[in-house]
Amino acid sequence: MTNPAQSESDVDASTLVGAAPLESILCTEELLRRPSRPIDHEKENSALLALVRALADSPHTILQTLADKVLEVLQADSAGLSLLTKDEKRFYWAAISGEWRPHVGGGTPRNFGPCGDVLDRNIPMLFTHWERRYPYLSSATPLATEGLLVPFHVKGKAVGTIWVISHGSRRKFDAEDLRLLESMGRFASGAYQTVQSIEELKVEIAAREKAEAAVREMASGLQAKIRRLLDSNIIGIFIWVGDGGIIDANNTFLSIVGYSRRDLVSGGLNWRKLTAPEWRAVDEQRVHELQVTGTAQPYEKEYLHRSGDRVPVLVGAAKFEGAADEGVAFVVDLTDRKRAEAAAREIERQYQEVRQELAHANRLATMGQLSASIAHEINQPIGASITSANAALAWLRAQPPDVKEVGQALDLIVESGLRAEKVIDRIRALIKKAPPRMENVQINEAISEVLALAHGEIANKGVSVETQLAERLPALKGDRVQLQQVLLNLLVNATEAMSGMREGARELVISTAKSNSDHVLVTVQDTGPGLAPDGLDRLFEAFYTTKPNGLGMGLSICRSIVEAHQGRLWATANKPQGAVFQFMLPMPHGENGNTRAEFGRVKPRP
Ligand code: ADP
Repeated sequence: MTNPAQSESDVDASTLVGAAPLESILCTEELLRRPSRPIDHEKENSALLALVRALADSPHTILQTLADKVLEVLQADSAGLSLLTKDEKRFYWAAISGEWRPHVGGGTPRNFGPCGDVLDRNIPMLFTHWERRYPYLSSATPLATEGLLVPFHVKGKAVGTIWVISHGSRRKFDAEDLRLLESMGRFASGAYQTVQSIEELKVEIAAREKAEAAVREMASGLQAKIRRLLDSNIIGIFIWVGDGGIIDANNTFLSIVGYSRRDLVSGGLNWRKLTAPEWRAVDEQRVHELQVTGTAQPYEKEYLHRSGDRVPVLVGAAKFEGAADEGVAFVVDLTDRKRAEAAAREIERQYQEVRQELAHANRLATMGQLSASIAHEINQPIGASITSANAALAWLRAQPPDVKEVGQALDLIVESGLRAEKVIDRIRALIKKAPPRMENVQINEAISEVLALAHGEIANKGVSVETQLAERLPALKGDRVQLQQVLLNLLVNATEAMSGMREGARELVISTAKSNSDHVLVTVQDTGPGLAPDGLDRLFEAFYTTKPNGLGMGLSICRSIVEAHQGRLWATANKPQGAVFQFMLPMPHGENGNTRAEFGRVKPRP
């Protein structure tokens, strides 16, 4: 027996050529003409009951039960159910009972077959010898003498047909058969719908179960990962609950706080109690953050070690998803880092101390070089005082004493005394060993003072000095003594460089200017032998010197002072000859929009 569904799968219009017209195989009106058999409610009800039972017991076989019951109630030779395939191109014989039972799985095309005609018109139809129009049905044996079909709807949509067939002349269908078929069809439609809903529900349940299983798997994977992290002992980890209780922890955490696993298991550990009292307020802020966002960003605090010592730590925490008040905390012991930081701070402090000592020593050395000049600076007003005092004595001894002249002489003595006092104050300031301090420094004034101290030395070496000081420069923020030390060094270096020259002018020019609107530029230029190009890079290195008695510390100290003032010091060649040393210092905030100077924290230069 061949399966018509396979032989006629794609019937096209050409099949219609020579086929009997639809009307010639239709005899639906016969149903009404034929004497109707009496209604057998009992049989009908028992069939419906059987369907209900099938639905309850095994919804999968509901369609087959329907075919069986239709066959039985209608006393047909074959009965079945055709359903549209998903692509709606064919009817598929989903369940068959009776003689055509072996054809189950077969079917007819949607566009050319009895089922299609029934669905097109959406009415019941009675056919006789349909193989005359649909030749492929000749292979479905035994042939159908009559076939009665009704549309089958599910959720308002026609999805197939229910049919009964008589293969001989024993059985002719009538109006009662149609009523029964339609009644059972309606019931089957409801049942089918229920089955479908159950199927959909099953799919939904399966999907939900799959999702739940995935979540369970993920959770257990996560747990495993947390456990691995816990066991890895790279950082301290503990699992906390709402009141601060620690319900699990790794060895690293236990050793950070100095407790044993037994202490943990006995439930005696609580991170709140482990926290040093002054950190509790910070903790509460983080707990709030944790409650709002689910995580507490890492922050520093101190735990109390069992021994009573404090342990600096970095702590971050996260709440477990879905858990009301439970989570994990990560703890990094900062003891070593803090120790290293303290050591670094101490080294820095010592460096600054040495730097200041050195700067001081350099200042003293430079002042030593200027001692003759300085002595002259002090001697000069003292000499003037002596002269004035002698003059005053003479005016006193005169007859009559000239009190007016005496007064003028005394005024000059006071003036000279004040001058000497000022010079001594400046020298004392330069000699004093004092920590750096921030003050307003008028750079032009600082230059004039330094020049006053050095000018004797400069003049002795046959050097002429010219100053080109810019007007209305704002006061700089810095350490006056340190900045004067820089100026002194540059002046002494320039003077020394020129003093060795046999010929040529010995000119020293000191100028100040505003540079690029937010810096003050100080330039010291000389007409000495200049700088060796290969030594340019090394000039500012500590211990670089070309002088037989030089220390080579001056320029290195100058640079570190200028850099500590957020400035820059550099050297270039002077044209046509000599050297130019320049440094730039930032103007204070407000004058120029620049940043504050901060000093005393320079890193050692290599
Ligand atoms: P020192 O004066 O003890 O040598 P410095 O650090 O002050 O140490 O100077 C380093 C070197 O830089 C000097 O030995 C000299 O060779 C060079 N130098 C500094 N200033 C000048 C200058 N104005 N002209 C030429 N060379 C200079």
